[in-house]
Amino acid sequence: MLPERARYVVIGAGIHGLSTAWNLATELSESGRGDGGDVLVIDKEDIGAGASGVACGVIRNNYFQPGMRRLMAHSVGTWEAHASELSYHGVGYIQLAPDSMRDDVRQIHAEQQEIGYESVLVEGVDECRSYMLGLFDDWQAPGISILLHEKRGGYANNTASLSGLAEKARHAGVRIVTGVTVTGFDLDDDRVNAVVTSDGTVACDAVVVAVGPWVRDIWSMLGLPPAITVRTPDGRELPDRPMWTYWALQEGTLEVDPREFVDNAGGLPPVIHVDSDAPLYDDQDGSLVTDQLWGIYYKPDFNFGGVQGGASPQIVNRAAESVAVDPYGPASPEFVVDDGFVRMWTSALAACHKRFANKRSLFQDEPSGGIGAFTPDSFPIFDTFRGNAYVIADSNHGYKMVGVGALVAKELLGATQPLLEPFRFSRYETGKLHPTSHSPFPWS
Ligand SMILES: Cc1cc2nc3c(=O)[nH]c(=O)nc-3n(C[C@H](O)[C@H](O)[C@H](O)COP(=O)(O)OP(=O)(O)OC[C@H]3O[C@@H](n4cnc5c(N)ncnc54)[C@H](O)[C@@H]3O)c2cc1C
Repeated sequence: MLPERARYVVIGAGIHGLSTAWNLATELSESGRGDGGDVLVIDKEDIGAGASGVACGVIRNNYFQPGMRRLMAHSVGTWEAHASELSYHGVGYIQLAPDSMRDDVRQIHAEQQEIGYESVLVEGVDECRSYMLGLFDDWQAPGISILLHEKRGGYANNTASLSGLAEKARHAGVRIVTGVTVTGFDLDDDRVNAVVTSDGTVACDAVVVAVGPWVRDIWSMLGLPPAITVRTPDGRELPDRPMWTYWALQEGTLEVDPREFVDNAGGLPPVIHVDSDAPLYDDQDGSLVTDQLWGIYYKPDFNFGGVQGGASPQIVNRAAESVAVDPYGPASPEFVVDDGFVRMWTSALAACHKRFANKRSLFQDEPSGGIGAFTPDSFPIFDTFRGNAYVIADSNHGYKMVGVGALVAKELLGATQPLLEPFRFSRYETGKLHPTSHSPFPWS
């Protein structure tokens, strides 16, 4: 049963909704301004039914944008502080890149040093090879001339960390109701007066929108525009930019024996991200896969065993309004990975490590992947709309951003957070956009 009223209604029980609810409950209690009983989480399906439940779980600082990097450093701190409850593995993260990305990687390293985020920069083809051979004796990736080894970060087990967060939220007194869909808002004097759901109406003081790929729908229920004008940093105005664009994430698992993916010392390896401009050939028949810049990432997989990872996502070339978000993830009839991804990713794995040559038949045969809703500049929006609706739209950066909830909780209680300032909606009007890098991924 839903209550008739809750001070705070959080929509969505993914990484952001649960983290915000837990932190809000804690802040309310600690400040004597309330308690967890003031916070209600509603999810139309279940805990982890969205992107958070299918995320690969990679946690890195590696961003070209200073605002993103500071925020990620904060989030890595949250993972580290609650490692066992959130099933976090701080094995580190290595980015390897070609000459065309050299300046970007150098800059990331320099700025990591400035904020005290430990990382090692290695430059030169031979130096990179020898560094990687020190970790993996079968390393052979072509087209690499720079690498950045972040000593912090790593990965977490998606469903286990969501259970850990839900447990923390419940422990703090939060009520989590699943199987209830938000269908609209009762807007009064341009504020959300109540949240309308499939099971009745809940009056509230404030609402938190943390619905991942479904943000398009709640955005529209709040009466917010489907397209906006974006001003670029050089002052140009780009009218009618779609507010949301969907990208299909390409991920999967190679079900090798997990003991095959260890480092030279037999330990858990860091997360590896390789961008290369060397031609990529099919490891089965030698045909050319691509002669363009390509990129993959991979890490040990918890759910199936073996190696899990992905490649650059594919844009969904369709107006956001016509994209079927449900059924979501592996249940989607459209947005799961195809043979083209399997060929590319397994060939790229084989190009990096001899041990993965001719292993394509071990690619898991269950569907994988999922879609994400990206903002006009592909970076998050954390801001208040309609006076009391706090929207967390992470533009699909977000599983790693577990620390955002603590900052949002503080903002809900009136304390503006500098780490969130670069992510306000007003940047599209002022032209204060984040810088873009030369990476093949839309999120770097
Ligand atoms: C395949 C894939 C791999 C990814 N890998 C990584 C990664 O390795 N690292 C990383 O940092 N990020 C990764 N991401 C991105 C990351 O998963 C998302 O950015 C993040 O999980 C979004 O979290 P969220 O809490 O905003 O939304 P979600 O986790 O999507 O949760 C939203 C919840 O809202 C509920 N909901 C929706 N509409 C309603 C409604 N009307 N009423 C009630 N409830 C509603 C849904 O049921 C869902 O449970 C990946 C994404 C995908 C798709």
